[in-house]
Amino acid sequence: PVLVHSYLYRKATAQALPAFLLIGPSGAGKTSLLTLFANGTPSPTHTSQETQTATCQLPSSALASTDRYRSVNDHTHDQPQLLLIDTPGHGKLRHHALASLTPATALKGLIFVVDSAAVSSAAGLTETAEYLHDVLLVLQKKHTQSRTSKGSQGIAVLVAVNKQDLFTSLPVGLVRQRLEEEVARVRLTRSKGLLVDSGVGLTDDGEADDESNWLGQYGSKEFKFGHMEEYGVEIEVVGGNVKGEGEEKGRVDGWWGWIGENL
Ligand code: GDP
Repeated sequence: PVLVHSYLYRKATAQALPAFLLIGPSGAGKTSLLTLFANGTPSPTHTSQETQTATCQLPSSALASTDRYRSVNDHTHDQPQLLLIDTPGHGKLRHHALASLTPATALKGLIFVVDSAAVSSAAGLTETAEYLHDVLLVLQKKHTQSRTSKGSQGIAVLVAVNKQDLFTSLPVGLVRQRLEEEVARVRLTRSKGLLVDSGVGLTDDGEADDESNWLGQYGSKEFKFGHMEEYGVEIEVVGGNVKGEGEEKGRVDGWWGWIGENL
């Protein structure tokens, strides 16, 4: 019976490794991050056109949530494994990323990678905020739809503020603030677009539709990441860098820590 049990256990875990989806604009560092987490080194990347998946192991420096009650002297456990899924960041290929949000049952969270130097320019900030807005709206709609069926589960989102090593990068707090402000602007622009498309002030149905396309608290002027909790979306913003200058290593402990907490 012991053998059968361990066989079943292994089979079950092999089927459902916890998965995290990497998402974000092209050039933010998703492929570098995947390579670092999978191989321990951020080897040179090429522009990826296809989805890549890597099996990674949580480093011993990060504690998995399931380990919380385990003694620090207990070395009998292997560090847990997880899947990282990289998605192409080009605007045109974005639908791949959004499509892959739907089926995966073992999806534990989303890692939205931001280039903290690129968001110091108006164009870079807008591109990033548009992408983030669209992803969060998909998550919100999923949550709203599943609320009517059974057991709506929440999802964790890490905004990984990458490239903190760069001289031109903005600090994490400022990146967070600018993203929240810009997402609010994107939301307003999109809602005006909707009004133009559909004609102003239609039926009750039309109004309800507008509301379902509005990210976060309906009609609110400000957007805060915390507003998304109401829709089961827990957002954390953590800085780091995949690459370091010269001999310096990357700084990714905060991201591993978040993964461990959400395994
Ligand atoms: P992706 O398009 O999101 O997959 O981005 P890549 O992983 O291809 O990275 C884009 C570029 O940014 C590459 O030239 C990387 O070497 C560089 N890069 C990625 N992470 C960092 C970082 O933390 N710091 C610096 N300075 N460069 C980085």
